[in-house]
Amino acid sequence: MQVLSVTPEIFPLIKTGGLADVTGALPIALAGKGVAMRTLVPGYPVVMAAFAKKKPVYQYPLLQGGKASVHAVKVGDLDLFVLDAPHLFDRQGGPYGTASGADWPDNWRRFAALSQVGGDIAGGVISGYQPDIVHAHDWQSAMTLAYMRYGKAIGVPSLITVHNLAFQGQFGAGIFGELGLPAVAMQLDGVEYYGGVGYLKAGLQAAWAITTVSPTYAQEIRSPEFGMGLDGLINMRATDLYGIVNGIDVDIWNPETDKHLVANYSAETLAARAKNRKAVEERFGLEADGSPIVCVVSRLTWQKGMDILAAVVDGIVAAGARLAILGSGDAGLEGTLLAAAARHRGRVGVVVGYDEGLSHVMQGGCDAIIIPSRFEPCGLTQLYGLRYGCVPVVARTGGLADTIIDANEAALSAGVATGFQFAPNNGGAMLHAIQRLVEQHARPATWASIQRQGMKADVSWDKSAEKYVELYRLLLSKRAA
Ligand code: ADP
Repeated sequence: MQVLSVTPEIFPLIKTGGLADVTGALPIALAGKGVAMRTLVPGYPVVMAAFAKKKPVYQYPLLQGGKASVHAVKVGDLDLFVLDAPHLFDRQGGPYGTASGADWPDNWRRFAALSQVGGDIAGGVISGYQPDIVHAHDWQSAMTLAYMRYGKAIGVPSLITVHNLAFQGQFGAGIFGELGLPAVAMQLDGVEYYGGVGYLKAGLQAAWAITTVSPTYAQEIRSPEFGMGLDGLINMRATDLYGIVNGIDVDIWNPETDKHLVANYSAETLAARAKNRKAVEERFGLEADGSPIVCVVSRLTWQKGMDILAAVVDGIVAAGARLAILGSGDAGLEGTLLAAAARHRGRVGVVVGYDEGLSHVMQGGCDAIIIPSRFEPCGLTQLYGLRYGCVPVVARTGGLADTIIDANEAALSAGVATGFQFAPNNGGAMLHAIQRLVEQHARPATWASIQRQGMKADVSWDKSAEKYVELYRLLLSKRAA
């Protein structure tokens, strides 16, 4: 089975969040299951630098305002189609905006181009390559499904995975004329959305199936509270809606072999975590007193509930925990957290920035990781936490609710607890969870059993990849029918 995946980011080449982890890991997990996945990605500078350019497999004399070409390359274990379009993707900064965080003003054009190429490949423009299925991700590649539907690939089954409904790609109606779609597409059951053009909306409308990254989030987005204005459409498509939890790359995230760690360890040698913990204490300027270190590895945003956390830092310190926070994002939140660190020297440390290596050391050395998201489609850091014996403390929402078993009395005595959940998501409930954590941390045998139980959990891609394969098969049977 040939599946074309279309995505704006893929690990290890280009990553701003969990989407990249998923698109990077899924092809590898699928390879052992009879599915060959090829991934179309934009030719950002880091992507172009990852391979030696040879003859392209397809050329565009003009694609959204400039020359473009498609290269078929292998980078590591990944089979890629790279869209080389310098006028759209060859720029310094992030994949979606400048280094200072402003969106590129032509994002609508950049990701329409990516999607148009996805639609063209689905339609068979590359000789010798015809995908059986097209799998798009988030708004940046959602329009692929519209280009397919209004082009030559209407009969090719497609699905879109929503990694975060909050990002929708909404633009003014004025861009429609430049998208190269037929006039009929600009209507309610096409790409039109509240008078403008909605990229994600268009994808949700055109996809044969819609998936999101956990069963709970799949239910939540049918409600106005989590539906972000798209709950009506999602409800209409409820019979084609699936929730499949993400896995993680258990080779990269393996405490026994992880090169980023100061000391490797397994569930049998948890004591070795102390060396990683020492590295965390040094990096974050924390005093070493044996109290639990609760860490944060996150975008610092409202979605992630970082304001809720920031408001109860004093309470967390008073409860006897230390905090090590790695993140970047909202400048106001960065400031608030840095101020909290200054207030609680030795108890709270903050590193502003994005640091993959440090995030591994934190998972390998901290006692717990807190994830107080207001909504969380799946979440990956709690899965890394499980695997590393860094006990997750999570808000009971989305994928966090699906993947962590709360250490309540019943779960503790049954020996199945893997972390702590709290609800509702407010400072009081969060503090209560921290207090429970501090209490259990003081009981080394119980704590180690929570750690080991988490480390035993299957967080690999295996089961989830199997579910995607089942869905691909279902779509193929629908095409046959
Ligand atoms: P989201 O995609 O919404 O940001 P996820 O939990 O799904 O949230 O994925 C976040 C990913 O980004 C994880 O791999 C996490 O380790 C990583 N990450 C987030 N912030 C940082 C940071 N400041 N430094 C290093 N890694 C980070």
